[in-house]
Amino acid sequence: MSLLSIILPAYNEEAMLPRTIEALRSILTDSGISFELIFVDDGSADATWQLISDAASADGRIHGVHFSRNFGKEAAVFAGLASASGDCAAVMDCDLQHPPAALIEMYRLWEEGYEVIEGVKRSRGKESFLHKSSAGTFYSIMTKATGIDMSRASDFKLLDRKAVDALLDISERNSFFRAQSSWIGFRTASVEFDVQEREAGESKWSTRSLIRYAISNIVGYSSLPMQMVTTAGVVFLLLSIILGIQTLVRYVSGHAVEGFTTVILLLLIIGSILMISLGIIGYYISRIFQEVQGRPKYIISKKI
Ligand code: UDP
Ligand code: MG
Repeated sequence: MSLLSIILPAYNEEAMLPRTIEALRSILTDSGISFELIFVDDGSADATWQLISDAASADGRIHGVHFSRNFGKEAAVFAGLASASGDCAAVMDCDLQHPPAALIEMYRLWEEGYEVIEGVKRSRGKESFLHKSSAGTFYSIMTKATGIDMSRASDFKLLDRKAVDALLDISERNSFFRAQSSWIGFRTASVEFDVQEREAGESKWSTRSLIRYAISNIVGYSSLPMQMVTTAGVVFLLLSIILGIQTLVRYVSGHAVEGFTTVILLLLIIGSILMISLGIIGYYISRIFQEVQGRPKYIISKKI
């Protein structure tokens, strides 16, 4: 019989963890699916690890991986995939915002022979207007960059062993599970689900961490920002030819003194575009630097 590994990244989830375990255990037992739950404790500061280890000693199908500090959800997902031993592996949030019923649907599709089954958001649940619109902008950039429709993508996925191994073979340090799991290809299906409301605990993402996440993923998948630098350069070259001719004509005809406003404006505009361009290039260099440094995605301190 085939085994389903379920990977659940958990960061300060003491409020939700027991409910999640119960919900998953009962629905999977009812559906007759043999499973293992792999909780990846992303350096929680609360009782999350205690709860995981208690659950693991009571039930042999529950496993735990503990990070030495908070490395972020992406790292937790990959650590979970690395320790999954199932014939297929699912990734879901451990706050029950990804409905377990959809997981069963995904598993049935896997049994039919699909290799990557993506959870697609039918609705995004309760979010502020600002959050919704900035997420919209981010995903439209990412959709253009990856060529994969990301507007409704989520981290809720079920992957065949082949797909898991393919993902683990990608050596990129700054991983973006959502995009990489589509990028690898394979026979793909999708399951729609409604994002549930969080029953307890709170979202672990601050606005700052979301912005950082967005920039890092855009830089990882698109060189468009750098091409924009080139485009700006070309536009200014054309302008400088026009202005150059005008200046020469004035010089020859003896009207050369006026035009300080132009000089000041040009200095300001070119100066700021140069700075922004340097900043954009800086992002890519720091990205290259991080990849070259080759620091591990995560460090595991305990396993159970
Ligand atoms: N998470 C994590 N590390 C982090 C932040 C979040 O492992 O640094 C986990 C968290 O425990 C949850 C999932 O990622 O299982 C999604 O997080 P959250 O519910 O806070 O995000 P939201 O649903 O608000 O997007
Ligand atoms: Mg959540």
